[in-house]
Amino acid sequence: MSLKIWIDGQLQSTEDAKVSVLSHALHYGTGVFEGIRSYPTANGAAVFRLREHLLRMQRGAEALGMSFALDACEQAVVETLRVNQQAEAYIRPLAWYADGGLGLDLGKQTAHLMVATIAWSSHLGGHKVRVTVSPMRRNTARAMPALKLTGGYTNATMAKLEAARRGFDEALFVDDAGQVVECTGENVFLVKDGKVIASEHPDALGGITRQTAIELTGAEVRPVSLAELKAADEVFLTGTSAEICAVEAI
Ligand code: PMP
Repeated sequence: MSLKIWIDGQLQSTEDAKVSVLSHALHYGTGVFEGIRSYPTANGAAVFRLREHLLRMQRGAEALGMSFALDACEQAVVETLRVNQQAEAYIRPLAWYADGGLGLDLGKQTAHLMVATIAWSSHLGGHKVRVTVSPMRRNTARAMPALKLTGGYTNATMAKLEAARRGFDEALFVDDAGQVVECTGENVFLVKDGKVIASEHPDALGGITRQTAIELTGAEVRPVSLAELKAADEVFLTGTSAEICAVEAI
């Protein structure tokens, strides 16, 4: 059975779901997305912190001046999981601009919304990862808010490519002052002398897994320098796709 994708209120098979090559979002990254997971439980599928994810997506839509029907998106997620008969899935809602020409003015654009539910195990493979300090800088929040705007991910994919070319699993962004920002798709924690510390930085995404890990561990939340990270007893990364992932080496 081919998976169905929800697009603008219609369920379509993946092969039939198409967009125009002149879509504004394809050219300029004018879209916003989420990465969410559903897990099987004794009571059926449970979508982890769905509302929080969609509230973050709504903030991204607002940054693009895009209307976003949060309740409809929430229902679409549940409907798509049901029709695809999935309990365990990676859920990808995406809102994007299209159909208004290629000018940078967004006034003429139409917002579209899709929800895909796909099989995707931890992208860091669930094993211990080797991280390298990226020579690149993270988008600063003053240039682009730390939200899940599609265009912002060019920064993450290029840092990941650069790290992969040097044989590493993941890239760590630090700022000009040597403070830890985040990895390309995960937030950063350290453990020192039995205490858990969640790194905090204005350019890092406010991760929902991070927030959960802070609640569960009672972690101290504060800025962390690269020197402190290197001197830690343990380092781990958090993110919906990566889940909780131990770092073997930096
Ligand atoms: N930072 C970035 C840049 C990310 O893309 C992600 C994944 N959404 C995270 C951190 C982790 O956030 P979350 O735990 O909400 O998935």
